[in-house]
Amino acid sequence: MNSRGRRRRRKIYVGPGAVLLLLAVIAVIVVAAVALRGCGAEDPAPAGGDDAAVGDVQPDGGQEEEQEDPENTKPEGVTTSAGVNCTLMDLGEEAIYTGELILVNNSTFFHFPENQELVSVYEEKNDSYYVGGTNVYLAPAAMDALNAMLADFTAQGGSKSVNVVAGHRTEEFQQHLFDQSVERNGLEHAQKYVAQPGGSEHHTGYALDLNIYHSDGTSEEYDGTGEYAWINDNCQNYGLVVRYATDKADITGIGNEPWHFRYVGIPHATQMVKEGLCLEEYIDYLKDFTAQGEHLMIECVSGTYEVWYAEGSAIYVPDSGEYTVSGNNVDGLIVTCKVA
Ligand SMILES: [Zn+2]
Repeated sequence: MNSRGRRRRRKIYVGPGAVLLLLAVIAVIVVAAVALRGCGAEDPAPAGGDDAAVGDVQPDGGQEEEQEDPENTKPEGVTTSAGVNCTLMDLGEEAIYTGELILVNNSTFFHFPENQELVSVYEEKNDSYYVGGTNVYLAPAAMDALNAMLADFTAQGGSKSVNVVAGHRTEEFQQHLFDQSVERNGLEHAQKYVAQPGGSEHHTGYALDLNIYHSDGTSEEYDGTGEYAWINDNCQNYGLVVRYATDKADITGIGNEPWHFRYVGIPHATQMVKEGLCLEEYIDYLKDFTAQGEHLMIECVSGTYEVWYAEGSAIYVPDSGEYTVSGNNVDGLIVTCKVA
């Protein structure tokens, strides 16, 4: 993630426009001051704290910020309860639709980017499992999680018969699957059981499907039981969740799919399992942990993480350290910062 170069000093033309600009700038600082209180920050500027002055100025004030004098407008660093120094950044609209926590379903479509980073499972896989073909692709983070999980699965005694049969899907391919289902079983059936083009989690590159491949050339459905239960019971420690369970079908709109895994990162996968939430529920749950309010603390196998959410494209981002920012594909951003 890039930090935006806002610190450049620019000369400001002094005139009526500049005075208005200055007022806008002061208002921005007031908004920031109000926002920072929950973050445990010191008061950023002697801004007077008059809410009326805030008016309709947005904290992510766009153009105004471009021409500000940095000495007056540079957002003061805020420090979270775990001691993370942060700065308010506007990451742009597209950030809301990008990242490992994006929710994609038949009512929240994927925003297809111009460029999507994907890797070939065939080329990147280790020797602990199979892949269904040379055309299976995943986002790099999902690829790493899969390799780590299945290496540990075989190390603890699991067989090497797990086969990755699906990863990333294009919009065209999902259309093909949908049309095929309509042809075979009718429109009503397809609408009920097949994700619409744009509504499949496979578009993200963070979802994958498994089956079982036997050395005699036969294969069978993966149901996550028997020796494979280890995978479904431990996947959260690698950042993956079993995305579609029977008891969440009324929320996800999809029935039991023990073979479909979704990468969300280790802390969030751990928290989803701990709280018993599917991704639809989890995205709502995270909205309780705003930058201004109490942050979520997650302990998991990879460490301790502090998590907060902000509506819109502006959010307090750590100045340094190990962290990710993901959109939720609905209305805002989530920061996940390693604190221990
Ligand atoms: Zn799937």
